Amino acid sequence: QLDIIKAKDASYHCYITVMEKEALLRAEEIQKRIDAGEFKDSPLAGVPVAIKDNICTKGVKTTCGSKILYNFNPPYNATVIDKLENAGAVMIGKTNMDEFAMGSTTETSYFGVTNNPKNTEHVPGGSSGGSAAAVAANEAFYALGSDTGGSIRQPSSFCGVTGIKPTYGTVSRYGLVAYASSLDQIGPIARTVSDCAVALDIISGHDKKDSTSVAQDNYQYSKALVDDVKGMKIGIPRGYLGKGLDEEVKKSILAAAKSLKNKGAIVEEFDLDAVDYAIPAYYVIASAEASSNLSRYDGVKYGFRTENFEGLQDVYKKSRSEGFGNEVKRRMMIGAFVLSSGYYDAYYNKALKVKAIIKEGFDKAFQKYDVLLGPTAPSTAPKLGESLSDPLKMYLGDIYTVSVNLTGLPAISLPCGTDSKGLPIGMQLIGKPFGEKDIIRVAYSYEQ
Ligand code: GLN
Repeated sequence: QLDIIKAKDASYHCYITVMEKEALLRAEEIQKRIDAGEFKDSPLAGVPVAIKDNICTKGVKTTCGSKILYNFNPPYNATVIDKLENAGAVMIGKTNMDEFAMGSTTETSYFGVTNNPKNTEHVPGGSSGGSAAAVAANEAFYALGSDTGGSIRQPSSFCGVTGIKPTYGTVSRYGLVAYASSLDQIGPIARTVSDCAVALDIISGHDKKDSTSVAQDNYQYSKALVDDVKGMKIGIPRGYLGKGLDEEVKKSILAAAKSLKNKGAIVEEFDLDAVDYAIPAYYVIASAEASSNLSRYDGVKYGFRTENFEGLQDVYKKSRSEGFGNEVKRRMMIGAFVLSSGYYDAYYNKALKVKAIIKEGFDKAFQKYDVLLGPTAPSTAPKLGESLSDPLKMYLGDIYTVSVNLTGLPAISLPCGTDSKGLPIGMQLIGKPFGEKDIIRVAYSYEQ
């Protein structure tokens, strides 16, 4: 894989940091330990993994795609990294991403854009675009991404790979640099449903260091890899097939629904309430939390500091103005605005109410269905540059993914065809709270 990175990464730019030396040493060590009989129950021992650059890796630069953290070497590992290391994984690098995970195209990274390996004139999606592209280009066997409003699922869909956003609380957020803490989850990206399930087995689990982590009885997601959907009830939200959805994407989703029906699942359309309001509610809540989370970057404790300054206020002001990119600044301003006195009730509180109504809609749907099916994104990957000039259009592209974060639900995106330009199309399966096994089972059956 290191050879593939050397040959291809100049064209795709999936990585911010490649850990060539460390990876080779580690691979040798793991091989010795495997030969000595260790890692018998660890299918991913010795397998190369790429890590999104907002997940803290001890002594390895973790930039979040931002100038303000260009030189940040965390003194500790995220819990998921410790778990991977204990399972014998070989980390090969840190992947490119939209700055602080804000974006849907990986174009807002301070370190330059990532190109979609399926067609380099197009974006790989975002914000975990580097992770999805690395897997698609075979520059990593699997990768970790983070998903606040679709950032694992949408790039997986654009790059023709598979990604899981777990139920909120399933994977520890300790060591994940916070964007919107009530929505963020780490999850795996890989080429197949089975590879994703095996990776999720390893990274999930209760963690004392994350107070929102939830203890569950069993984390063996790979047990759900059974090719059988007979009798399973799958609902398609009618609104997910309506206005704004590309015709070719719609055709692929309906074809996927038919193939699941042929395998014995019961598939029908239904009305899901309130999802029309998901985008504004998401962007209000995510920006509000971001404005608070990002106040810690001040040019004093760590990260980028401006060169010329007079006094403390000036360090803050200049370091932040020079250190953050435009999209991040836009979000912090929106966030500070919706939280300010006088506007708090009109925007932030209202968004929380909308979130509660969306949750009720999903609760009702899951009284009837085991799994919900729909597209991951309204269209295939746009061309590079298109979204930068029209951020509103980019925000609207998150229409099918953000409600899953607002409700904390698990969801998987997997390939279900290509459009006439040869760009991948992704379908999304949404599960009940902690219903990872249902979506994995349906996705796996579909894939067979
Ligand atoms: N595109 C969404 C945003 O910009 C989602 C990003 C994410 O999931 N990290 O907020």
